[in-house]
Amino acid sequence: MTPRVNHTASRNRATSVTSRRDPGDAALARIEAGEYGECVQCGKKIAEKRLELLPDTRLCANCAT
Ligand SMILES: [Zn+2]
Repeated sequence: MTPRVNHTASRNRATSVTSRRDPGDAALARIEAGEYGECVQCGKKIAEKRLELLPDTRLCANCAT
């Protein structure tokens, strides 16, 4: 019976999950993967400034107006 070993293992796992789930990194990875940042109407890239203001937008400034 070695309960201390179990405790340490689960703590280590929790730490690595937390560090891999940084929200800023996730957003950047999605932009680089092209999952968002492209206009669904014309297919052009949405300006980074616009995405910063409206992270959920699917339309570029041209199509949204
Ligand atoms: Zn567009």
